[in-house]
Amino acid sequence: MSHVFPRNCHVQPPVAIGGEGVWLIDSEGRRYLDGSGGAAVSCLGHGDRQVTEAIKAQLDKLAFAHTGFLTSEPAEALADLLIAHTPGELERVYFVSGGSEATEAAIKLARQYWVEKGQPQRSRLIARRQSYHGNTIGALSAGGNEWRRQQFGPLLLDVSHIAPCYEYRERGEGETPEEYGIRAAEALREEIERVGPETVMAFMAEPVVGATAGALPPAPGYFKRIREICDEYGILLILDEVMCGMGRTGTLFACEQDGIAPDILCIAKGLGAGYQPIGAMLCSASVYDAVAQGSGFFQHGHTYIGHPVATAAGLAVVSAILDRGLLPQVQAKGAALQEALEARFGQHPHVGDIRGRGLFRGIEIVADRATKVPFDPAGKVAARLKKAAFARGLICYPMSGTIDGKHGDHILLAPPFIISDDEMAQLIEMLAGAMDEVLDGIA
Ligand code: PMP
Repeated sequence: MSHVFPRNCHVQPPVAIGGEGVWLIDSEGRRYLDGSGGAAVSCLGHGDRQVTEAIKAQLDKLAFAHTGFLTSEPAEALADLLIAHTPGELERVYFVSGGSEATEAAIKLARQYWVEKGQPQRSRLIARRQSYHGNTIGALSAGGNEWRRQQFGPLLLDVSHIAPCYEYRERGEGETPEEYGIRAAEALREEIERVGPETVMAFMAEPVVGATAGALPPAPGYFKRIREICDEYGILLILDEVMCGMGRTGTLFACEQDGIAPDILCIAKGLGAGYQPIGAMLCSASVYDAVAQGSGFFQHGHTYIGHPVATAAGLAVVSAILDRGLLPQVQAKGAALQEALEARFGQHPHVGDIRGRGLFRGIEIVADRATKVPFDPAGKVAARLKKAAFARGLICYPMSGTIDGKHGDHILLAPPFIISDDEMAQLIEMLAGAMDEVLDGIA
């Protein structure tokens, strides 16, 4: 019997023992194409020598120094590199060990910002119903994923959740994508007015929604209007790019494509590319200054923040993304993946929508293409697709979720940026096999 507490108590997973490029290898010698990069983590693939050598070199030099006393060379260098490439006026980087720690820190910093500014009545966070921001209590409160939240209700913070920007389902007939983008964004204004502008501290959103929606990009103009509304009411904008950041959408940060910059930005997954657990919260000069010129101390912290080995890994990963010209490759491969998915599944009776940006693509599975009616959740379509794909040697990330009482099934694809044309073709073949097995003849 394994003594590891598994994710699913009914499944004993195979033991992974190696990784090469886009492939993972288990102890029986089976190879799996990592089609979702461990939920958009493994952007460089597995076994990248440049990154592993950087980690080894840092380990030989210095494994740990507590940030209560000391900073470190890799933490300083990674912060400089990130700030040199971030949009807007982001100026400071607060390193953490993962995505939930980044969003949790963002929520606390937004709160402290208003306390420092002498407006302690601002404690309300607004987020969206179709979102996932992590599993710690604050982050889980911000997220709108009903399945993840349902058992923890009494422990969660009182967060406002507005409608998502979900063009496939919510754009009206005769409404242009731009008109819909503005209408969807205006839901934020309505909620601010409803709860009282003087009580709101921040709005938090994923630019491209990952885990709850299968790579759902915003409608054109949506985030521009969101930024305007935040500015109008003086509310902080927190963007959660834990999944969609670090080049995944073809630009280092997804929000660059929406022409906006946040006050606080959260990143993780692709920052360490799976080589080390690392995340970060970046904030603007004005947010930082409120703390620096106020109490002078962000009332937060974890033992492993700014870990030298984790930041050394992050430095090697971000350098690789930039120096190897991976961003234009993600754009080109992403366009090719979208085209191939449309060619293969565009007319599939159970495929409602194929969407995304860069190498971050989602397929929405429906019972009926014409009416967009989803499958009955009891049918567990997403879980069956995951199993059927895995049996074929494909790791992809099918998810099901419920938004506003409406169920949906999605498949999230986020392969490593180094995927070859041939591997992309294999991915699509294995996915097609899994879809045929699960969806052919389904009622
Ligand atoms: N935010 C987003 C957008 C995510 O996708 C995730 C993880 N799926 C998180 C936060 C939480 O990150 P972690 O699992 O590293 O805590």
